[in-house]
Amino acid sequence: MIEKVLIANRGEVALRIHRACREMGIKTVAVHSTADADAMHVRLADQSVCIGPPPARQSYLNIPAILTAANITGADAIHPGYGFLSENASFAQIVVEHGITFIGPTAEHIQLMGNKIAAKTAMRKVGIPVVPGTDGPVNSISEAKSEAARIGYPILVKAAAGGGGKGMRVARGPSELEPMLLQAKQEAMAAFGNDAVYLERWLEHPRHIEFQILADTHGKVVQLGERDCSLQRRHQKVLEEAPSPALNAETRTRMGEIVRKAMAKIGYCGAGTLEFLYEDGEFFFIEMNTRLQVEHPVTEMVTGIDIVREMISIASGAPIGIDQARVAPRGHAIECRINAENAFTFKPSPGRITDYHPPGGPGLRIDSAVYSGYTVPPFYDSLIAKLIVHGATRTECLMRLRRALTELVVGGIETNIRLHERIIAERSFLDGAYDIHWLERLLSGQT
Ligand code: ADP
Repeated sequence: MIEKVLIANRGEVALRIHRACREMGIKTVAVHSTADADAMHVRLADQSVCIGPPPARQSYLNIPAILTAANITGADAIHPGYGFLSENASFAQIVVEHGITFIGPTAEHIQLMGNKIAAKTAMRKVGIPVVPGTDGPVNSISEAKSEAARIGYPILVKAAAGGGGKGMRVARGPSELEPMLLQAKQEAMAAFGNDAVYLERWLEHPRHIEFQILADTHGKVVQLGERDCSLQRRHQKVLEEAPSPALNAETRTRMGEIVRKAMAKIGYCGAGTLEFLYEDGEFFFIEMNTRLQVEHPVTEMVTGIDIVREMISIASGAPIGIDQARVAPRGHAIECRINAENAFTFKPSPGRITDYHPPGGPGLRIDSAVYSGYTVPPFYDSLIAKLIVHGATRTECLMRLRRALTELVVGGIETNIRLHERIIAERSFLDGAYDIHWLERLLSGQT
């Protein structure tokens, strides 16, 4: 049994994990940088430990400080949330070596999926369709040229260690390949300390559709259906929904089964998400995230399953009590990521929130760690709240979302609320007819 969880994160996700723990009767330990001393996750936790100065490297990424905090507070488990150390295999390993439960998959699976080339190979072996591309890293310009000719242009150069949309470049034709390869390598080296890149066919109008899975230590795997995360800017998700307006029931079930079998074959354990691009009726795996995702609430809203609670219970060795046959999406959910940034220039807007009024009413959920008088520090992610809306149908969900966005007040800083209002007023969004490039076309006035 897990009795005390150290939450190695901040912001809304730290609060989300705290809430699951509270409901399970588990004590919580918050860790924080000096910039977050007044943060909500610190105020609500049973105990808190300051682990360093504002820069994440010295606090939220500081493994010795986090382990020391676990030690002095007697925490018997650590939940990493998303971002920061959540996909750091050596962190997972070190935690376990210290006799602390890591609420997540094994270090081996984190490592495997952290390398996109290895992940693609492993997934292909267990029957998952992958984007056509090179089987391994490209080691020279001449190799890249001949491989690109075989795959066909446009070509996407991708970093093996990539994440957060970094280390990706599109080459429209052979003359662009060399400069794009060099740029991707440089960016990957700077961001991940690893400049291995590979090539993939660039899909022109795909949707981003991902499947949520849960797997326990007893070999049981359940899949909780898909989320559509095609609303993106610079490869970053802006709004997510479930179910996807692009899938029919037959395709949903078929893909869910492929994913479930594949996860059982590799012996995965914990929560995870398999990301796919979906184009012209075909699915292509791009990567797997071995952690809780920002957009997990849309799945929780349509399935009624508490994913964080399941993660904790799986980590404590309990079997999943959910029967696959009874998992079915009910109604429709949409999540808007509310960021502290200008709605149209996207310039970050940290600072003091003078007024904060979250919307209420039927079908609503707000995951946020801000309050009136809170100062958004400039050091971290700009996400300040997630507005998640549920309706019996997509139409009802959209009606509620429109209403909720007009109620939401965040004063004193700039936010992207207006951007969400603009998106959901668009005909093609209402029709569910959008791909991963749609938002950028809208923003550049091409739609
Ligand atoms: P990251 O780990 O950096 O988020 P992903 O592999 O998940 O990288 O890709 C992020 C986004 O980039 C995808 O959601 C999609 O919008 C775009 N993308 C990735 N691979 C391709 C591809 N082969 N063709 C077109 N777009 C792609």
